Amino acid sequence: MKKTTGTDRKKTAQWRPATRAVRGGTWRSEHGETSEALFLTSGYTYDDAATVAARFAGEEQGMTYSRLQNPTVAMLEERIALLEGAEACRAQASGMAAMTAALLSQLSAGDHCVAARAAFGSCRWLVDSLLPRFGIETSVIDSADDEAWERAIKPNTKVFFFETPANPTLDIVDLSHVCAVAKAHGITTVVDNAFCSPALQRPMEFGADIVAYSATKLMDGQGRVLAGAICGSQEFIEETLMPFQRNTGPTCAPFNAWVVLKGLETLELRAHRQSENALKVGQFVEGRVPTILHPGLPSHPRHELATKQMDACGPIFSFVVDDRAQAHAILDALELIDISNNIGDTRSLMCHPATTTHAGLSAEAREAMGVGEGMLRVNIGLEDPDDLIEDFDRALSAAGL
Ligand SMILES: *Cc1c(COP(=O)(O)O)cnc(C)c1O
Repeated sequence: MKKTTGTDRKKTAQWRPATRAVRGGTWRSEHGETSEALFLTSGYTYDDAATVAARFAGEEQGMTYSRLQNPTVAMLEERIALLEGAEACRAQASGMAAMTAALLSQLSAGDHCVAARAAFGSCRWLVDSLLPRFGIETSVIDSADDEAWERAIKPNTKVFFFETPANPTLDIVDLSHVCAVAKAHGITTVVDNAFCSPALQRPMEFGADIVAYSATKLMDGQGRVLAGAICGSQEFIEETLMPFQRNTGPTCAPFNAWVVLKGLETLELRAHRQSENALKVGQFVEGRVPTILHPGLPSHPRHELATKQMDACGPIFSFVVDDRAQAHAILDALELIDISNNIGDTRSLMCHPATTTHAGLSAEAREAMGVGEGMLRVNIGLEDPDDLIEDFDRALSAAGL
């Protein structure tokens, strides 16, 4: 190993965030490559039998198998941990692999999990359908009702699970309040921070225990790969997550980890510029539609709280029109913005959650979480916001707005 700059935690933890994003975790091979190397290997070889025995016994550091460790993936994990301000991080195959592992690694039959009602469709499926199959009780609550969290606690409550802002209703959870309630009751908070990334919001600064990611979203940010991550204490990652991860295998592929590493170098720039663009476009859209759900606009019921917790409003907002026909008419009239259900991308994208990301839920569950037939969710990218406003103007007019 030649001189490396990114692996000494004492040193890297003193870097400011922009430096961490570019150099954190960098681990150079003997070739001294500038850009992180991509280690496409499933296994490792050893000089002698005693070495491999010592590694398997946990007595010696080193790689043994890429389900457990890979140098490229390890660089990503160290960089995300640094950006998050977490002791440790493990990369995952996707955001949903991360959510599943974060919950199943610590919950057992007889435990109870309280989750936010408004959530990404697959996150709700975990809570409504998967956990109960294994004897784990779940309750869903209105996450914007600060008192609802404490009311939902039972003697066996072990985890609070929520997103803020939530997908696609942009509900904002009061992180300090909810994390304090959890701590007072010995409950672990699992925060899905996909809408922000550590560039815009670091839930651990408000007391969160575990932060889980779809790195597919802002971290890659260019619509290329699926990936996920779980950040937590060293103890949680080693003692609770790793036994689950090691033996079930939701591991991030080295190629995907490498792509996300490259994405992190520009994360801060993208997240802030996309937030600025989303604010400008949102201000235009607000004047034309009946309802807009945008944490950057004073009309959002928790705008002040959002401003306190988030460094910027993020690239995503939703708005509500009359019904499905009008929502679909807007999508069909777009010329620049793509109809697509991804978010965090540098391209502006729009989708109709009721028939896409939340189509797997019952109509009642959608209604209860505020995902109506007239809702559209928007991801604002890095295009010139004036071109996006022109596209909105055209599409809203075509739909009679
Ligand atoms: C996209 C998303 C996920 C799932 O991530 P994948 O990488 O697609 O598996 C989970 N939570 C939220 C809030 C998301 O937006």
